[in-house]
Amino acid sequence: MDKMMEKTAAYIDAHRQEMLDLWEELVMIESGSQQKAGVDKVCARLKEEMEKAGVKTRVEEMEKAGNSLIGLWGEGRPEKPLLFLGHMDTVFNEDGVTKERPFTIKDGMAYGPGVLDMKSGLIIGLYAMKALKEAGYDQRPIKFLYTGDEEPGHVNSTGTQLHLDECEGAMAALNFETGYPHDGIVVERKGSANFTVEVEGVAAHAGNSPEKGRSAILEMAHKIIELQALNDFEKGTTVNVGLITGGTVVNAVPNCCTVKVDVRYVTMDALEELRPKVEAICAKTFVDGTKTTLTWERAATPMPCSEGNMKLLEVLKATAEEIGYPGQLSAHKVGGWSDSCIVASKGIPVVDALGTKGSWNHAPNEYAEVESLFTRAKLAAAFVINLKDDIQ
Ligand SMILES: [Zn+2]
Repeated sequence: MDKMMEKTAAYIDAHRQEMLDLWEELVMIESGSQQKAGVDKVCARLKEEMEKAGVKTRVEEMEKAGNSLIGLWGEGRPEKPLLFLGHMDTVFNEDGVTKERPFTIKDGMAYGPGVLDMKSGLIIGLYAMKALKEAGYDQRPIKFLYTGDEEPGHVNSTGTQLHLDECEGAMAALNFETGYPHDGIVVERKGSANFTVEVEGVAAHAGNSPEKGRSAILEMAHKIIELQALNDFEKGTTVNVGLITGGTVVNAVPNCCTVKVDVRYVTMDALEELRPKVEAICAKTFVDGTKTTLTWERAATPMPCSEGNMKLLEVLKATAEEIGYPGQLSAHKVGGWSDSCIVASKGIPVVDALGTKGSWNHAPNEYAEVESLFTRAKLAAAFVINLKDDIQ
């Protein structure tokens, strides 16, 4: 192992308690995506830590969502910056959730809201950088991009545009999102889109004059079967009719029915191929006298498995071996969206799921393996040292 790597590892070892304390502190700040005050508190706390470490920070104020934190360490260094990505919001929006489930460590596992997704990842990024500083690393700037409403996909903020602007000129990105127990490193994420289908029918008394009615539910039932038939698991294009509402009372022919649909795809082309098929199904009428409206709501770009992502993974694997990382890293492809997708849309190579290892994120039994807080921070720091050439 090279000398600088040894120093970064020693720094992490010497700061275990400090990292654990900050982990507890951040988990105990309730920062659901809808709890702006809490997210802003996490943001302010990390800003303070970054500034102590010599990072130049800027807070991007958001009106209807948590603020975002941008940090630049090593401004003016000649090489292109490396992005450290993370988010400060969690999916837990109920007040008092930390009283119910406070930060706890038991048998080497940590519990609490956002313990895995991703308060720990924010700390891994911060301490990897602090370790590099301590070891005298001075090659490449590191730019932190910690956002405040990733979980809902930045629908209440300008977070997406912020990523697009701030990732300009970066050589690569590491996202300290939820890590997997099997050490899978995410090199591909699907894009996701939503659409709503509304059917308007004709209401009629179910006993006296059902023949006068035009059932919106029956019309929708036909459409649902055709929409679900668009699933192509092999290709990775999926269509999920996830929500349905319809009718008013049991003894009336229903005059309304609405479904909301989630679509996932590996490339934007796959989405464009799917669109006309959805439109054709919605344009068809199965029950005469009903009317259908289709509304596309949002379409987020995927993070395709690029050559650059795979090259980053190779460097990461070689680094893991060099430092004796306790685990076997492998390429992992997932359907879930993250901020990496925004960065990838600009052609920037990215690897994701570099946070603590654990399971059940977004669920009350979420947990993280405590030891991985340290091993992943060492891995991230050593990786930065090994990333000597532009890989694009
Ligand atoms: Zn997350």
